Amino acid sequence: MSSSVTDFLATEARFGAHNYAPIGVVLSRGEGVWVWDTEGNRYLDCLSAYSAVNQGHCHPKILAAMVEQAHRLTLTSRAFHNDQLAPFYEEIAALTGSHKVLPMNSGAEAVESAIKSVRKWGYEVKGVPDGQAEIIVCADNFHGRTLGIVGFSTDPETRKHFGPFAPGFKIIPFGNAAALEQAITPTTVAFLVEPIQGEAGVIIPPAGYFTEVRELCTAHNVMLVLDEIQTGLGRTGKLLAEQHEGIEADVTLLGKALSGGFYPVSAVLSNSDVLGTLRPGQHGSTFGGNPLACAVARAAMRVLVEEGMIENAAVQGARFLEGLKDIRANTIRDVRGRGLMLAVELHPEAGPARRYCEALQGKGILAKDTHEHTIRIAPPLVITSDEVDWALEQFATTLTQDFS
Ligand SMILES: *Cc1c(COP(=O)(O)O)cnc(C)c1O
Repeated sequence: MSSSVTDFLATEARFGAHNYAPIGVVLSRGEGVWVWDTEGNRYLDCLSAYSAVNQGHCHPKILAAMVEQAHRLTLTSRAFHNDQLAPFYEEIAALTGSHKVLPMNSGAEAVESAIKSVRKWGYEVKGVPDGQAEIIVCADNFHGRTLGIVGFSTDPETRKHFGPFAPGFKIIPFGNAAALEQAITPTTVAFLVEPIQGEAGVIIPPAGYFTEVRELCTAHNVMLVLDEIQTGLGRTGKLLAEQHEGIEADVTLLGKALSGGFYPVSAVLSNSDVLGTLRPGQHGSTFGGNPLACAVARAAMRVLVEEGMIENAAVQGARFLEGLKDIRANTIRDVRGRGLMLAVELHPEAGPARRYCEALQGKGILAKDTHEHTIRIAPPLVITSDEVDWALEQFATTLTQDFS
C-alpha cells in the first residue's frame, strides 16, 4: 500500500485514467475552510471542490444527519416511498420558491434531465412538431461531461473524438440578448444558461442581460433554464444567482453544494408545468431521491440558512474582491467576482496560471487555474474576515512574483 506523496501519485498515474491533472498535493482531512495533506501541512481551500463544499469541509451537522440516516435506511429505489423524500421536497421547494422537484445525483444528470423535460414540454404543451425541438445554449458553456452535454460545448478539448453528437442545440454568444432574440424560432423550447459562467473563468454578463433574457423567453414561450449548479446555494452572496438579476427561471438546476460535499445530490426545480409532463416509466434514477441523499441535502440546506452562510458570502466576497483589486501587480489583467465566486485573470505574458497556483500551494493556499490564464477563488462560505485577509497577503506576494 502506498504511503508517501510520490507513491500516491505514482499509483494513481499507473492505474487511473489520466483525465485530470491535479495539483501535486494529497489531502487526507478537512474541517471548515481548511484541508490537511498526508504530511500534516494545512491549506486554505480556495476551490471548495468546485463549489460543492460551500458549507465547509465535514460540517458537523451534515455529518450527523448522514451518519444517523446511514444507520436507519440508505436506499429504497423509487419503487417504494421513503420517509425522507417528502420532507426534502417540501424544504427545497420552500427554500427556492419552486413548485416541482426532480431529484437526481450528479449535476450532469440534472442537466440531462432538464433537457429531456423541456423537450417533452415542447412537444406536449407548446406544440412543437415531434423531433424538432431546439434548445439554445451559450458559447463557452459548462454544463457537465455526458455525451449529450459535451455535444453542445464549444471547447474543442471537451468534444474532440467523442462524437457523433445529438442534434437540436444552437449556440449563441453569452451576455448578448440580441443574439438570443435572433436565435429563437417557433421550435425553440428552452434557453439553457449559467447565470455566471464558472468554468469559463467567472464570466459575469452585462447588467440587464438577464432581464432582457427573461422578457424574451416569456414573450416567445421559451423555458429559461438556469444552471445554478455552481452559482447556487449562496456562492454569489444570494441563495440563487438569479436573485441578483431580479428574475425567476422556469427551470433551475442545483447540485454540488446541495449535499455540502458529502454525497452526489442534484435536483431539477421547476415553476412551470415542465416537470409535470413526466409520467411513470419515462425518466428515473436508482439512487435519485434516496433517503441518505435526502437527509444529507436537508441538513446541507438547513445549515446554509441557519448559520448565515449566504450573508457571509456577500460580506466576505466583497472584502475579498476589494482586497484583490488593491493588489498592484503587473501580472494582473482583471479581477472579478460576485460573492465568493472570484477570479484573477493574468496577462498572457505572466505565464500559465498553473504556476501561480503551485506557488500558492507553497504558501498554504489551494486554488485552481482555469482556461490557462485565470485563477479561480472560491473558498467555503464559512470563511472569516481574518482568513480572507490572510489569504489576500498570500495572493499579493504570489501575484507580484514574476515567473515568466
Ligand atoms: C459542475 C457543474 C456541472 C456538472 O456537475 P457534475 O456533478 O460534475 O456532473 C454542471 N453545470 C455547472 C455550471 C457546473 O459547475
